Amino acid sequence: MFMPASTSGVGNSGAAGGYAGDCVHFAAARKHRGGGSACVRHGARRERFGAEESVGGPLVRDSAPVGQAQGACFAEALPRHLHCPKAQGEQQMAVREILEIGHPTLAARAREVEVGAIGTPEVQGWVDDLLDTMRAANGAGIAANQIGIPYRLFTVEVRADNPRYPYKPPIPLTILINPTIAFLSDETFENYEGCLSVPNLRGAVIRHLEISVSGYDRDGAHQSFEVRGYSAGTFQHEKDHLDGILFPHRVVDPGTFCSWSTFSAFRQEEFANRVRQLVERWGA
Ligand SMILES: [Zn+2]
Repeated sequence: MFMPASTSGVGNSGAAGGYAGDCVHFAAARKHRGGGSACVRHGARRERFGAEESVGGPLVRDSAPVGQAQGACFAEALPRHLHCPKAQGEQQMAVREILEIGHPTLAARAREVEVGAIGTPEVQGWVDDLLDTMRAANGAGIAANQIGIPYRLFTVEVRADNPRYPYKPPIPLTILINPTIAFLSDETFENYEGCLSVPNLRGAVIRHLEISVSGYDRDGAHQSFEVRGYSAGTFQHEKDHLDGILFPHRVVDPGTFCSWSTFSAFRQEEFANRVRQLVERWGA
């Protein structure tokens, strides 16, 4: 049984963050370089991240004060955009580079988002970028630190036709900011996991079957719901990211590691049968 959180405001239209018709980062960079006012999105980011020392990665390279248009805009220190619609004249989206295991931003604990900041263009832009990147990569979920944003939010969505996980039951789009998870029972299952930040590797991880999930949606509304069954593993995987934990850290038996092709050839059928049994029992 899965009880979805609010998914209102979903999408990457200009209405969500006021970014219609341009690549948000590049537009902000131009604005910042162009004069004395800080750019709408990255000026705020600079103010918030500039003095930090404990988080590595591309967001903390530039520590110039907000509003001083010296040198490069902070936006240029962001992870590389793989797809710039401004340059290519295509549908607006911001697919970001996904950091890979070994990157310090993935290994650090992400920070809480100020609840009062959820409605800002900055945080709304993070959500849009997560959605675009997750869907472009056929992921079942993605955490903000996977695209270089060291804050606590993730998205989860499994569509029925996901080619990366054909055996996964659908999960409606869920956006969670400052998520928490509590275990509702001691019952666990073995989940064969993969990760967009761990290319071509899968491994078996023990996950809880019954969890309670809480957090804020992109409208700043507090959500609390329960997830039971196979889908509970996806939420635990994404929450782990925000604590600097990747699935290989939780693999108990190294003998379960395999590539995507050997998983498909030798292990997927048996695992998919177990997933079916879980879905029959729990409904998700
Ligand atoms: Zn992952």
